[in-house]
Amino acid sequence: MEKKLDTQTTLEDVKVFIKKFIHERDWDKFHNAKNLSMGMSIEAGELMEHFLWTDTADVQKTFEANQQDIEDELADVIIVAICFANQYNIDINTIITKKMAKNALKYPIEKSKGVATKYTKL
Ligand SMILES: [Mg+2]
Repeated sequence: MEKKLDTQTTLEDVKVFIKKFIHERDWDKFHNAKNLSMGMSIEAGELMEHFLWTDTADVQKTFEANQQDIEDELADVIIVAICFANQYNIDINTIITKKMAKNALKYPIEKSKGVATKYTKL
């Protein structure tokens, strides 16, 4: 069975790999909160475009038919997010841990289990 890279690579390894790629191309100068946040939104739009006008019942079929392209767009979203973290020296594990703690308060299991209701309506 193919060994998944996620089990062998730290987030810091990925951050350094992407930082090196950007630095070698002298693209750091374009990396600011405006450009990177817009880039994340645009890449998320490219990911969503695969599913636009698709019936919910057909999502899985659409995913399977376009998996490679969808994975490329998901990678773009994550890469730009990591560029943002790199540019502003943000520790991704710290912000995810903090945000998940907030999410746990907003979405207590007993109120939110199995429902997609926004926390303001729980
Ligand atoms: Mg893209």
